[in-house]
Amino acid sequence: MRQHKLALCKEHFLDWIPEQTARFIKKYEMFTHHEKVLVAVSGGKDSLALWDILVRLGYQADGLYIGLGIDGGFGYSSESHRLAQKFADENGLHLHVVDVESEYGLPVPVLADITHRGKGRPCSVCGLAKRHVMNRIARDLGYAVLATGHNLDDEAAVLFGNTLNWLGDYLKRQAPVLPETPGLARKVKPLCRFYEREMTAYALLRSIEYIYEECPYSAGSKTTYYKELLNQLETERPGAKLTFYTKFLEARKGGLFGEPDTNPTMELHPCTNCGQPTSAPGLCSFCRLMERAASVLPGTSK
Ligand code: SF4
Repeated sequence: MRQHKLALCKEHFLDWIPEQTARFIKKYEMFTHHEKVLVAVSGGKDSLALWDILVRLGYQADGLYIGLGIDGGFGYSSESHRLAQKFADENGLHLHVVDVESEYGLPVPVLADITHRGKGRPCSVCGLAKRHVMNRIARDLGYAVLATGHNLDDEAAVLFGNTLNWLGDYLKRQAPVLPETPGLARKVKPLCRFYEREMTAYALLRSIEYIYEECPYSAGSKTTYYKELLNQLETERPGAKLTFYTKFLEARKGGLFGEPDTNPTMELHPCTNCGQPTSAPGLCSFCRLMERAASVLPGTSK
C-alpha cells in the first residue's frame, strides 16, 4: 500500500482493516457497542465487507437490502440480493429486505421513466427511494445508526465534484457522520478512509462473495469520471486521494465552512403523508414523487 508506505501479509492485513475501522469509529464518534446498527447492504464488496468488519468487532449489526428492480440484462438486483442473503445466511446474521416494486408498485427505473426524472438515468429517483426506505426501516425498527459502505474513492469523488462546482451546502454536509435529528437515525461511513482497492483486497481475502458487476446505470456517470481523474492523480502521487479527503475534513473541523466543528442544521417538518422529516412543510420529496407516479399510473402506492 504505497499510499500508507505499508506492506502487510494476508494475516496482518485482515487484522489491520478492523483495527483501523475501530479507530475511525472512535475518532469520529460514530457509535458505541450499546447501539444497534443497520448496515445498508447492496451485495457489493464495500457494504458486505463493512458488515463483516462490524460483526468481527462485536457490534450489533443487522443488514438492510433494498431491491431496486434493476436488471441491466444480467439480473443486477436479483443477483445482488442473492449474494447479500447468502452472506447473511452463512454468517447467521439478520437481513431485512425491502423490495421497492412490491412495496410501492413499480421498480426504480420505471418510476424514474414515468415521472420523467433523470433523462434515462434513474439515479436521482434511486437515491430518493433508498434514503426513504433506509430512514423508514431505521426509524420503525429502532436502529440508532445507519451505516453505509462508502469508501475513500466514493468520498473523494463526491468531494471533487462538490469542489469543482463550489456547492457550499453539500461541502458543509459532507462528513463521516451526519448526526441524528428527530425522526432520522444518525448516518455513518466507517470505511470512508479506506481505498477501494483495500476493500476489494479485504473482501477477496475474507472469501466474501460479492457482485462484481457495477450497477448498469453507473457507467458514464460524473462520479465514475471523477474517480478516473483521481486515479490518474493517485498513480502519479500515491496518497493524493487520502490527503485531499482528510485535509478537507480537518479544514471543515477547523471552521473553513462556518463555526468550527459544527454540523449545519435546518428546520425540518414531518411529511404530511409518511411522517419522515422534510425541509419544506407538506409532502417529502419521495411522497411527491409517488404522488406524481400515481397520477400517471393510478394504483401506484403513495
Ligand atoms: S448507479 Fe444504480 S444503484 Fe447507483 S444510484 Fe444509479 S441507479 Fe441507483
